Amino acid sequence: MDSNQSLFERAQRVIPGGVNSPVRAFRAVGGTPRFIARGQGAYLWDAQGQRYIDYIGSWGPMILGHGHPAVLAAVHAAVDDGLSFGAPTERETELAEAIIALVPSVEQLRFVSSGTEAGMSAIRLARGATGRAKIIKFEGCYHGHADALLVKAGSGLATFGHPTSAGVPPEVVRDTLVLEYNNLDQLEACFAEHGPALACAIIEPIAGNMNFVRASNAFMAKLRALCSAHGTLLVFDEVMTGFRVALGGAQSLYAAAIAGFAPDISVFGKVIGGGMPLAAFGGSRDVMAQLAPLGPVYQAGTLSGNPVATACGLATLHEIARPGFFDALSARTQALVAGLSAAAAQAGVPFVADSQGGMFGFFFAPELPQHYPAVLATDKARFNRFFHAMLARGVYLAPALYEAGFVSAAHSADDIAATLAAARQAFAEPA
Ligand SMILES: *Cc1c(COP(=O)(O)O)cnc(C)c1O
Repeated sequence: MDSNQSLFERAQRVIPGGVNSPVRAFRAVGGTPRFIARGQGAYLWDAQGQRYIDYIGSWGPMILGHGHPAVLAAVHAAVDDGLSFGAPTERETELAEAIIALVPSVEQLRFVSSGTEAGMSAIRLARGATGRAKIIKFEGCYHGHADALLVKAGSGLATFGHPTSAGVPPEVVRDTLVLEYNNLDQLEACFAEHGPALACAIIEPIAGNMNFVRASNAFMAKLRALCSAHGTLLVFDEVMTGFRVALGGAQSLYAAAIAGFAPDISVFGKVIGGGMPLAAFGGSRDVMAQLAPLGPVYQAGTLSGNPVATACGLATLHEIARPGFFDALSARTQALVAGLSAAAAQAGVPFVADSQGGMFGFFFAPELPQHYPAVLATDKARFNRFFHAMLARGVYLAPALYEAGFVSAAHSADDIAATLAAARQAFAEPA
């Protein structure tokens, strides 16, 4: 029995499913999860000593690759000064200033420790600020595991959702309306019916939790216009896309395409922590003034704005803000995506792929899906075979077709070439 297998069996005795976040268990693709011993640059090594080119990057945060020297130095220095104080530190202000300088729609923000907390707090803030209860979410988008957001579309035209998890009473999701991504007609109908009751609409602008699906400019412009017309707040969940698809996040891309575009509240995580537990939500000074201790919306956290996490985040943001960083990262990611598409075409495999900045996705399908039902209709069996064929060749892709992939600044042209060589063999494998 190999070390990964024995570690997995041991873990399963004391941790449900052997993992602390379900997708790590490889249930979607089958097989034994790799227990990671260490990471450096673009690589991970598992418990067997096997090396992998890492396209998960801790699900997004590791945009500089593992063990970036400037980030490690900042973390080491912060650790020496103390792990946590439960009191304000200058570094929290510095990180807030750094983020605000890059994201014009955000005037103030509050730090928390996970994307889940940030999304949940943003919803509470939107409800508190508007005095309304109903929220819109889009099917296939993930905003963390808060009760009100664990909901899927109802049947037929009903937009009232059903809980996707046991332990979430139907009453808790009664005010969550679930709409199809990129569906303009549904969006208009929903605002026509519920407009005055809608506190906010929360969206992943480029959805990375149903692989990789962009909201079209037309859809986003309509969503913004309807929110503005009805006094509904537009919440951009940029936990994945923030500082990943562009230095200014996905909102900078929509602002470039849609005149006057800006979300009302933004949610960040992943890259802003550089691999440590850190997330944030922010917006205009007016909206943020609703939060305690200034306003009536309660929100708090013992480890919020942790001094080690903020040091890690600041050092990470400093590196990615260097001139040319995103051009180089985008070019590398595009080379991967173009190479995969060419290899699939050569093998006669129906395959489509897309990328933005350092985030990418691919599907075994004739065309890019525009919403969750279309993602579900792509070839899952083929994805799973490809996943294992790549893993066996030392390429670590996300172990489920519902996940986006990530390239880091540490991925070299040689790493991309090695990945494409593996992909040519994987595509050619018989079913
Ligand atoms: C990862 C993610 C979250 C949840 O963040 P956690 O830190 O895992 O709680 C929320 N929204 C989006 C878009 C994410 O990708």
